[in-house]
Amino acid sequence: MMAAISAASSASRQVVILERLPRPGAKLLASGGGRANITNTLSRADFIKRLGRQGRFALPALEAFGSTELREMLAELGVPTSCPDGLAVYPASQRAGDVLNALVRHCHKLGVELRTGVRAARLRLVHERVEGVELTSGTSLSASAVILACGGQGYPSLGGSPDGCELARQAGHEIITPTPALVSLDTAETWGRSCAGLAVSDAVVCIDLPRHRRSENGDIIFTHRGLSGPAVLDLSGDIAELLTKHPTVPLVIQWQKGMEAGDWRHRLDAAQRTAGRKLVSNVLGQWLPHRLAETLCIQVGCEQTKVAELQARHRDALTAMLGAARMMVNGTGGFDRAMVTRGGVSLKGVNPRTMASRIVSGLFLAGELLDLDGPCGGFNLQWAFSSGRLAGLCAAADGQ
Ligand SMILES: Cc1cc2nc3c(=O)[nH]c(=O)nc-3n(C[C@H](O)[C@H](O)[C@H](O)COP(=O)(O)OP(=O)(O)OC[C@H]3O[C@@H](n4cnc5c(N)ncnc54)[C@H](O)[C@@H]3O)c2cc1C
Repeated sequence: MMAAISAASSASRQVVILERLPRPGAKLLASGGGRANITNTLSRADFIKRLGRQGRFALPALEAFGSTELREMLAELGVPTSCPDGLAVYPASQRAGDVLNALVRHCHKLGVELRTGVRAARLRLVHERVEGVELTSGTSLSASAVILACGGQGYPSLGGSPDGCELARQAGHEIITPTPALVSLDTAETWGRSCAGLAVSDAVVCIDLPRHRRSENGDIIFTHRGLSGPAVLDLSGDIAELLTKHPTVPLVIQWQKGMEAGDWRHRLDAAQRTAGRKLVSNVLGQWLPHRLAETLCIQVGCEQTKVAELQARHRDALTAMLGAARMMVNGTGGFDRAMVTRGGVSLKGVNPRTMASRIVSGLFLAGELLDLDGPCGGFNLQWAFSSGRLAGLCAAADGQ
């Protein structure tokens, strides 16, 4: 939609959006739990750093249309934005639907034709130039430029599919194997299941493989199958990739940032002097959600123990779990539950200054379809908007 709006507003071109679902923008509507964390207030340099090793590719698109420009445009379209925690930006109404409706309205105003329930099947290619699109219905459309913005493969119910990669492959683009990212993790350990639904704030989770150590700080949420929450989701893309080479990936979790086993031991020693008659789980409940404190005590076998009676072996096992709990990840929620796809169309085949294909002329690519993804926090929508904007402007200018 952003690409279509940009193309239609910069040149008098006839612009058509082909959308396979009955309505456009299903993912935008579901994003941020229905609130749409559309961008964030990080500086451009920090934003790019968080996009990882491919981040520099996004620079021209972000320079041309970054978070300030996005917020200005939405305000002009009647959707003011706000930033409740100083970092994550949402529509002020906290309704993703307001962003979607504004974009759809603007498409109509600019004369963009929105065809829903139609699926692009193939590109019409003649002498390394794109001349249109064939639909699964058997009909086809002629076009002087085509922008592929088919998104990733996550959440098929919201439009996720491998179609974009197939269309790009047909044009000769290399595809970096797609894997799920921003996805919940399955763990071999089952003890966390009794905490399902529980959130632990300000924890640290670390991938503990000799050649791949990476940690994230933030909230962790227990699920019926393992772990989720922002800190886990931000590592999940790396973990999904590692799971293609390793049967399991070890995680080490510090349940309270900066609190190692020795620090917990000091806390328990102090409690032995001052609160010896209290249950260990109640003492730990001062600093951790009570259900987690209780579950850890059950794991160690000291759930009914008073602090004064805590044996050294129980104390050592407990403090080890508090400061560095080890959990083995043996799977992910897969594409069904992946908010983002890692991999996709290789960036080598795309010009970052125009989003044009380097292989087929008249073809442009944008958004999550490309081999570029970000963590939680508005990075992926901003990338979709910025790259869509650049692709739309350059596609409209192409061949003029
Ligand atoms: C549950 C959930 C929550 C999220 N929350 C956030 C968030 O808060 N902040 C954030 O930054 N990101 C979030 N994301 C990620 C973000 O929504 C995506 O990265 C973003 O929507 C990608 O935009 P896109 O335009 O590239 O692709 P999409 O938004 O996926 O749009 C692609 C469209 O192409 C259509 N399509 C695919 N193939 C064809 C075909 N062959 N023919 C016709 N149409 C086709 C699809 O139906 C789809 O509507 C979330 C994702 C999910 C699933």
